[in-house]
Amino acid sequence: MFADLHLHTFFSDGTFTPEELVARASQLGFSAIALTDHDTLEGCDRAAAACVAARIEFIAGTELTAEHADIEVHILAYLVDTQNQVLLQRIAGFQAVRQRRIREMVGALNKLGLPLKAEAVFALANCQSPGRPHVARALVKEKLIGSLDEAFDKYLKKGRPAWVPKTKMSAMEAVELIHQAGGLAVMAHPGLNRSDEIIPDLVAAGLDGIECFHTKHSTTMAERYLEFAEKYHLLVTGGSDCHGFSKQKPLIGTVKLPYEHVQKLKDKVAERKR
Ligand code: AMP
Ligand code: ZN
Ligand code: FE
Ligand code: FE
Repeated sequence: MFADLHLHTFFSDGTFTPEELVARASQLGFSAIALTDHDTLEGCDRAAAACVAARIEFIAGTELTAEHADIEVHILAYLVDTQNQVLLQRIAGFQAVRQRRIREMVGALNKLGLPLKAEAVFALANCQSPGRPHVARALVKEKLIGSLDEAFDKYLKKGRPAWVPKTKMSAMEAVELIHQAGGLAVMAHPGLNRSDEIIPDLVAAGLDGIECFHTKHSTTMAERYLEFAEKYHLLVTGGSDCHGFSKQKPLIGTVKLPYEHVQKLKDKVAERKR
C-alpha cells in the first residue's frame, strides 16, 4: 500500500479536476492521496467524494507559502478540519492577496502594451486561488503571447517587468494556523528551497514532519532528509507535486510513499486529540 501526499488540481495551479486526479490515482493503485492545492481547501470536498467512490483514503490538505529568515518555505497542512473558521478566514485573506496581485500584474502588462483584462484571468482561473500560471494561460488564450514559457520568461518570472512579489506569512504563523485547525504541519520539498538551516527553528515552532520523498529530490537528498527526520523526531512524508499537464506530463505515480507513514500521521493527530 502506498500514498501520494502532494497533489494539485485546477483549484490552484494544476490542470486536473479533482475527479480526473482521483481517477489517475485509482489507475495507479494508490491507497491514499492528499490534495495540497496552494492556499485553498476549495477542491477538498470534490476530491473526498471522488475518493469515496474509488475507495481511496482521502487526506484534506493545502500548501501554504511562507517565509522564515528571508527564505521561502512551503508548509504542507494535513488532516486539517476543513470547516475550521480561523483557517478558512486566513486562507480567504491569502486568496485576496493573490487576486490583488493578479490585478497588479495585469496592470503592469497593460502598461507594457498588452491589453489583457484581469477579468479574463479570473474567468480562466475559475478558482479562489489564482496565480501567475493563470496570467500566462490567459496571455496565450488571448493570443498576446506564443507560449506559457515565453510569458514567464518575458514578463512573469522574478525580476521581469510584470512580476509582482507576493507577501508571505511567516512559517511560524503557518505552523500555528495548521495546529489550531487540528492538522499537521510538514515542510515541503526542502531540497528545492536551500532551507536546511531553518529546519531547527521550524522544529522549535512545532513542525510535525518533513517531505523526504519528492519528484525533484535525488536519492541522496531523500536520505539526507530522512536523517533530519530521525534527528528531530519528524514524521516522514512524500508526494509527486503533480500539477497535471501544467509543466510536463503528469507526475502522479513518480513517488509512492509507503502507507505506514500515512498511518503515523493519523496516529499523531489522534494522539493530540486525546
Ligand atoms: P505564483 O504562486 O502565482 O507565484 O505562481 C507560482 C507557480 O507558477 C508555480 O507553482 C508554477 O506552477 C508556475 N511557474 C513558475 N515559474 C514558471 C515557469 N518558468 N514556467 C511555467 N510555470 C511556472
Ligand atoms: Zn504549484
Ligand atoms: Fe511547493
Ligand atoms: Fe506543490
